[in-house]
Amino acid sequence: MNSRPLVVTIGECMLELVRRDDGLLRPGYAGDTFNTAVYLKRGAPKAQVAFASAIGGDDLSDGLARAAADEALRTDLLWRHPTRTIGLYLVHTDSHGERSFTYYRDRSAARDCFTAAYPRHIDDAIASADLAYLSGITLSTLTADARTRLLNALRRTRDSHGHIAFDLNYRPRGWDNPAAARNAVASFLPWVTIALTSAEDELALWGDTVDETIDRYRRTGAEEVVVKHGPGDTVLATADQVRRFPVRRVGQPLDTTGAGDSFNGAYLAARLNGEPPDKAVHTAARCAAEVIMVPGAIVPRHHTATA
Ligand code: ADP
Repeated sequence: MNSRPLVVTIGECMLELVRRDDGLLRPGYAGDTFNTAVYLKRGAPKAQVAFASAIGGDDLSDGLARAAADEALRTDLLWRHPTRTIGLYLVHTDSHGERSFTYYRDRSAARDCFTAAYPRHIDDAIASADLAYLSGITLSTLTADARTRLLNALRRTRDSHGHIAFDLNYRPRGWDNPAAARNAVASFLPWVTIALTSAEDELALWGDTVDETIDRYRRTGAEEVVVKHGPGDTVLATADQVRRFPVRRVGQPLDTTGAGDSFNGAYLAARLNGEPPDKAVHTAARCAAEVIMVPGAIVPRHHTATA
């Protein structure tokens, strides 16, 4: 791998509004593949990390582009949609500390990624990446034709020996029905080389045990499979072995939002830095353990051990 590898993460970032105790809304920017890009860049500062998505021409979109630039992400793969803007979601916390989310994203700019107006240079950047990263959420936001176009770009990534990392991140509300999700995901699996998934999501979509999850990703060609399971053991499968890693207890988590995304970013950064997969699991778990002890998906920079 070259000394300044190109990583492209693909997906949607939204305005996040968190209701505070005093009733006011605290704004931020978050989205699974964006969060992963942030932690990846923090963990592997030499890598060029670009976030491929779509935003609008308004202030909120400018804020998102600034948030990405503040994290030293490349913003040249953020297409400015001529008429739409970014999606948003509200985070409510009830009196028992349970969080719920309300989304306003059905007509977000990102829904038009990889449609006719979306610039072709973004496909070319993905095709030339050393590592492309996407999730099941990315796929759920795209039309069938857009998914086909993205798949073609990823085929080219693989043709030039780039890696493709994938987290299932199955969110039923993003899909018409589970069969639609299974079909869409299945068409991408043959191109995935690094699967970073969660036992809960695989069970929800495929009814899999962890062993079945590993077999399925291996059968379609993944070289590394990491199955996260919250505070339960993390399982790593490489070509020749399957190993379980207990998760170190860190006390009662404050907010697990972004735990999996940060794990993925730190894992991929560690791999780019030359760490072997088993060491990368430890690095990733350390990062995720910090994320669950602060509110929100993105830990302020001065908190982060991997920064
Ligand atoms: P996802 O967000 O993808 O569902 P998980 O909930 O499985 O991800 O968590 C991702 C990682 O975060 C775990 O593999 C683990 O390293 C860490 N983690 C999650 N919950 C805890 C916890 N209670 N204590 C310590 N680490 C945790």
